[in-house]
Amino acid sequence: MNKVISGACTALAAVLVWSWAACAQRPVFEASELEGSAQEKLPGKLAAPDLSGPQRAMPRHVASPLPNDQRGSIRRVETGGRKLVALTFDLCELSDQRAGYDAPLVAVLRELKAPATFFAGGRWMRSHPERAMQLMADPLFEVGSHAWTHGNFGVLGREEMARQIDWTQAQYELLREDLAALAGKRGVGEAVKGVRESIAVFRFPYGRCSAQALELLAARGLAAVQWDVNMMDAAKSRTAEAIVRDALRQVRPGSIVLGHANGFGHATAEALRALIPALREKGYELVTVSALLEAGKPATTADCYDSRPGDTAVYDAQFGEGTVHPRRNRP
Ligand SMILES: [Zn+2]
Repeated sequence: MNKVISGACTALAAVLVWSWAACAQRPVFEASELEGSAQEKLPGKLAAPDLSGPQRAMPRHVASPLPNDQRGSIRRVETGGRKLVALTFDLCELSDQRAGYDAPLVAVLRELKAPATFFAGGRWMRSHPERAMQLMADPLFEVGSHAWTHGNFGVLGREEMARQIDWTQAQYELLREDLAALAGKRGVGEAVKGVRESIAVFRFPYGRCSAQALELLAARGLAAVQWDVNMMDAAKSRTAEAIVRDALRQVRPGSIVLGHANGFGHATAEALRALIPALREKGYELVTVSALLEAGKPATTADCYDSRPGDTAVYDAQFGEGTVHPRRNRP
């Protein structure tokens, strides 16, 4: 009899432990909600520029100014040879065209348990609230800022630059509040405890910046994280094989790799399926940008560029202030 009770108790305890563990790990979103279609990757039709901001224009969270060693444009991080690498994906959105969301790309990262950082435009977050909240809620990922409507910080005036930064911060905070409310409603409030209250890292659209832009970010505690390895995945002719081959040749300890998750990356998801295991095979550990910054000393430059100083200035003529489709800028 005792044996039976004891057996039942063990079974009950096992069930309780299981349900406690299942409870503790229950995510905010169901797996089915994370799925996406190929259609979702496509951009919307061009429309009149939308100049409206977020529901609340100013962020509530005020961060301390950046420490001196994090000021400037960060290309990679000196890790003392530690083989860390940060995969980053931009979620760019202009004022006149809704961008897409590359669900298969995000699914590959989740499947391979690969940490990554997404630099999201504020307007992108507003037009993709559920996707933005899913990225925020996933402990694998970090969400950074990619300006409100992809403004060109090599051209914009101070006031507009500040607006591009602040509106995006405010939008993130609004979604963070919505996410907390949703998690509470679903009985998993604990799941969002680790989601940061405000964005800590920023990426300049078009790889363009200025001393004034860097100053504005530093005053707001935002690190300007650019890259030293460009997947160049927005080029339609670029194959997954070429992306993997070039990335494996260019990545070194502390590298920051740039790709796109807004539908403008073509073979990105396919490339990641090969690139991630290949990097791990070479002894690299994937980390978010903030984890990479904590692990070493940022290698900074006074200007922003792709592979050599000045090479992104060509975008000024093509994109102007950067916030509308280049077709509108044509004379
Ligand atoms: Zn961009």
